This record gives sequence, structure tokens and C-alpha cells, in this order.
Amino acid sequence: MFNGILVRYGEIGTKGKNKEFFEKRLAENIKNALKRNEIPYINVHRLPGRVLVETFEIEKCEKVLKKIFGIRSFSPVVIANANLEEILEKVYKIIENANAKSFAVRVNNADNSLKENSQKLNEIIGERVVKKYGLKVNLEKPELLVGIELRRGMGYVFTEKFEGPGGLPVGSAGRAVCLLSGGIDSAVAAYFAMKRGLKAILLHFDGGKFFSNKEKITKIAEKLEEYNGKTKLIIYNYEDVLEKISEIKEKKYICVLCKRAMKKIAERVCTEEGAQCIVTGESLSQVASQTIENLNAEQYQIEKIILQPLIGFDKEEVIKIAKEIGTYEISIKNTGECRAKPRAPATRSKIKKIIEIEKDLKI
Ligand code: ATP
Ligand code: MG
Repeated sequence: MFNGILVRYGEIGTKGKNKEFFEKRLAENIKNALKRNEIPYINVHRLPGRVLVETFEIEKCEKVLKKIFGIRSFSPVVIANANLEEILEKVYKIIENANAKSFAVRVNNADNSLKENSQKLNEIIGERVVKKYGLKVNLEKPELLVGIELRRGMGYVFTEKFEGPGGLPVGSAGRAVCLLSGGIDSAVAAYFAMKRGLKAILLHFDGGKFFSNKEKITKIAEKLEEYNGKTKLIIYNYEDVLEKISEIKEKKYICVLCKRAMKKIAERVCTEEGAQCIVTGESLSQVASQTIENLNAEQYQIEKIILQPLIGFDKEEVIKIAKEIGTYEISIKNTGECRAKPRAPATRSKIKKIIEIEKDLKI
């Protein structure tokens, strides 16, 4: 019966003149996701304040829409012309299939094809249904809620409303190089960057003989691709760099120097990939070395802004989200600690000290 899905967006609606840019991006992202998942559709187009997906593959489509940022909610709809009799026919069909004892009608008339306002239409349609089927009207707790949205000469009739993931359409805020370690945190950090409209380019440093997470990484990238759309994963051969760093005299500084090197390389990748920022999964004081002093030293003289979306999250909160997005089970596969890690990494590194050591390293 349903031949489309009406998509509602959240924050995009507040963007004033830029609204069209956000709407177009959202419609484009929906199309691409349907194509990637090989879900047949007739069309995806913008309506005033909504995006309409014309398709008969309602269930498959729902699964995909739940992962497209920018969507606040969506409803499978029966599409009619904005003509009272035609809309009533669709409503009757829904009532006949629903087997409910009480109902309510909620019209949202954002069009001028029907001259009655929303409240008047509620009354007219409600009355006709009562007459024809003898159902009870229950405005507070109806067994069946029939929603009708009128937009640009068409009526969209629905009974269900699903939640979308919120946020803004991926790509609408720019591009980010997201440092993906294989651990729990960085995958969630990348997810949040995407949620605020950044298109993620994933960058992983492979430690060779020091550590290797390569297998996990491709699986995590596949999960993130469901939100990010077509995704570029860069695996950087990092063994030589880490080898050099691991030879310093004061071993306790290895980790800070290593993180700095990663961020410097990420900065170059930003330039190559046209990205404006770097994203990492650090959270303040989660492990002994994640101090504000170390974080300062790690980002000193890095020109691109480093976003750390998890900075204020507890580990439990991060784990919960990792489970929801499906990266947790992959991330927890133990691949061993980094063999370059000293027994007691520095917890309060001084920038001056770090730069001194780094100069001699000549990476
Ligand atoms: P995660 O759970 O993401 O591994 P973490 O809490 O273990 O994070 P660190 O090991 O201190 O924290 O790493 C901090 C951040 O640096 C990571 O979240 C990630 O963004 C980045 N990072 C660390 N190792 C790598 C790596 N091998 N490749 C790419 N990025 C990395
Ligand atoms: Mg880690």
C-alpha cells in the first residue's frame, strides 16, 4: 500500500539561506545510500521542508534511513493528490487494514490546494471515518493515528513515525581526517564527526612489528561507511617512523612523540585530501597519559584544528554508542599492546622538552 517515505529533517530547517544547500546534500546522501545498498527507488526529491523518497521497498529503505545524518524522523506514506476525496480513499484503505477500535486524524496543511485549515480538515475527515466505520475518536490515546501532510499539491498519508539519527548531512560541514586506531574510542569519535556533517577520510597507522590492527580496521571502516557513504581508508606504513622514535634515550616520551608524528602526518593528509580538520578519539584522563599537558604537547604547532569529540565522555558512554553503531565487537578483539610502549609513559610532558627531542629525531 505504501509507495513512499516522507523524510523530516531537524536542524537544517534553521539554516536560513543555506537551507537549500543542506536539503540538496541530504537528498543526494539518501540517493547514494540507496544505490550503494542496491535498493530500487523511483525518485528522491525535495518538497518544501521535507524530502520524499518514492519507493515500494519500504522496509529495506527504513534500515538505510536510520543511518543517514540530518534525518530527524521519517514515515512510510501513501501518496495522493491534494484532493479531499482522493485522500479519504487512502485513509479508508489504511483504516480497513488496521483493525483498530479508536483513531485520531492529524492534518498538517502546508499547502493551499485545500482551502480548509488543518483543524477543519481533521474534523471533516474524522467525521467521514466515524460515519463509514463507526470507529471512536480518541485524541489522547488513539489505537491508530492517521497523519496527513499536505505539500505542493500532494497529500501524504501515514500511520507510523520512525526516529532518524539527527545531526547534519555528511559532507555539509566539510571534510575531516579521522585517526582510526582499531580501538573503541576512535571509531565513535569518527561517528560524531560525521554526525555534525563532516565527511570522514579514515587514516590508520600500521605499526608493523610494533603493533598491527590492519584486519580490524577494514571491518570498522565498513561499519562507519554505513553512516559516511563511500569512504576512503588510508593505511599508512608507520613502522619506520616508530622505529626511529623508539630509539630515543628518554623512553618515557615515546608515546607523546608518536602521537605528535601521527598528527603531523594527518596534517599533510588533510592538505592532500582537501580536509579542514583532524579528528581523534582522546578523552580527558581516560588513561594515565591522556593529560591536558600531553594533549597540549601532542598538538603543538599542528596547523589544523584537532577535534576530540569524546573529550568529556566516560568510557561506559563510549562503549554504549560503540555497541549501537556496531563497531564494539570488532574493536575489542585483542591484538596486543604496542611493543614500543615504555613501562611508565610520561604523564606531564613539557612542550619544550618534546620539541628538543623531536629536532634531533629528524623524522
Ligand atoms: P582508541 O580507543 O581510539 O584506540 P585510546 O583511548 O586507546 O583510543 P590512545 O591510544 O591514546 O587512546 O590514542 C588516542 C587517539 O589517537 C586514538 O583515539 C586515535 O584517534 C589516534 N590513534 C592512536 N593510535 C592510532 C593508530 N595506530 N592509527 C591511527 N590513529 C591512532
Ligand atoms: Mg587505543
